[in-house]
Amino acid sequence: MRVLVIGGGMAGFMAALAAVEHGARVSLISRAPGATALYAGGMEIAAGAREGRGLAAAQPFHPLVRLGLNEFELVSLLDEVCARLRAALDRVGLPVVGSWRQTGWFADVHGGVRPAHLVPETVFPGELTALQGKRVAVVGVSAVSEYDAVEVASALDEVGVRALPVTVGMDLPAGASLTDLFGRPAPIVNATADAVAFPPGLEGLPPNGFELLAAVPSPHGWRLQRALEAALEASRVGFVHGEVGGVRASGRRVEAVFTSSHELRADRFVLATGRFLGGGLVKERGVREPIFDLGVFYEGRRVDREWPLWLQHLERQSPVPAFRTGLLTDERLRPLDWDGVVAYENLHAAGSVLGGYDYARGFGVPVVTGWLAGRWAAIG
Ligand SMILES: Cc1cc2nc3c(=O)[nH]c(=O)nc-3n(C[C@H](O)[C@H](O)[C@H](O)COP(=O)(O)OP(=O)(O)OC[C@H]3O[C@@H](n4cnc5c(N)ncnc54)[C@H](O)[C@@H]3O)c2cc1C
Repeated sequence: MRVLVIGGGMAGFMAALAAVEHGARVSLISRAPGATALYAGGMEIAAGAREGRGLAAAQPFHPLVRLGLNEFELVSLLDEVCARLRAALDRVGLPVVGSWRQTGWFADVHGGVRPAHLVPETVFPGELTALQGKRVAVVGVSAVSEYDAVEVASALDEVGVRALPVTVGMDLPAGASLTDLFGRPAPIVNATADAVAFPPGLEGLPPNGFELLAAVPSPHGWRLQRALEAALEASRVGFVHGEVGGVRASGRRVEAVFTSSHELRADRFVLATGRFLGGGLVKERGVREPIFDLGVFYEGRRVDREWPLWLQHLERQSPVPAFRTGLLTDERLRPLDWDGVVAYENLHAAGSVLGGYDYARGFGVPVVTGWLAGRWAAIG
């Protein structure tokens, strides 16, 4: 079975990995990094999934609800995908720690506190519950003005961590920003503390050091994106750099997709092109899916009819409606056309291109739907 995955973020990665493990010959095409490369450094996996039956009632178009799994199946699947993801990242030198069953709390570079289930090993010692009552030195770099260690330390204080800011000098270009720290060795910090919080991106932290979560652009996201690409290579997935612009189909079967210079044929396809940031959905006057012209829905209603008036009005009041807009699928993750019918029998969709959930809430949908889409694509 030849499987072509379109999209190189977390969903495309999981799809390619699953398809390879289920015996397919897999290629993946991606035009550029998407939302995955922007993640802050803490993977939220179980946002939504944990709510179980409540989720089905509150968000009937949520992709995990559309799968029609019972709670036992969903729990087993979450265990499986987290184990696969951790093993794959481990193999390429980006170990991640944690479990979807347990929520940890981590501080970011602006003193915000975020939940996460899986985090890089370099972030994990910064889990705030474990740091309660301990002394933490927060490292500020004098040349970097966009990040304020005093602000982070006082935010940590507010959540019960005894934090003190410590400023260090580093040899950096004039007007340096946080991104200039990426890949540089961590400076030596002379402070008596149980733990030392560093801005993200530095290498070679001391044994009691940890990285804060990032803002955009994110060193954690960049490392993750590079690790996913390395893991694909290690799994013998053929990587094609390019943008899919069109499709050749025969009836309800996709035969090939096109870039400006190539035709890529396969037996089955996985669409994992992300939402607005990735480019899987395009918002002009309305919202459309640019490759296959699939149906795009908001809470089960097609947005070509609704968007110009009703949804636009909702969006002005709150951005949330836009975040839930996306594709709908059947229970085998095959996307629907505008009339609500499976568009192509050999096309699956995964990740944040799917509607019905707020995609800023984590990697749960990309890892679960990516894995299933890849598995189903491989076994037909
Ligand atoms: C700013 C930001 C911060 C976030 N932080 C976190 C966080 O800290 N923790 C967390 O759990 N979640 C976070 N999220 C959510 C998480 O990043 C996303 O849910 C996840 O990355 C979506 O993965 P994806 O594979 O569906 O899409 P993407 O990662 O966007 O991947 C889409 C891919 O498809 C490719 N593509 C699109 N169109 C084409 C085409 N025509 N041809 C070829 N390739 C194409 C793109 O180039 C890209 O490679 C954050 C999201 C954002 C936007």
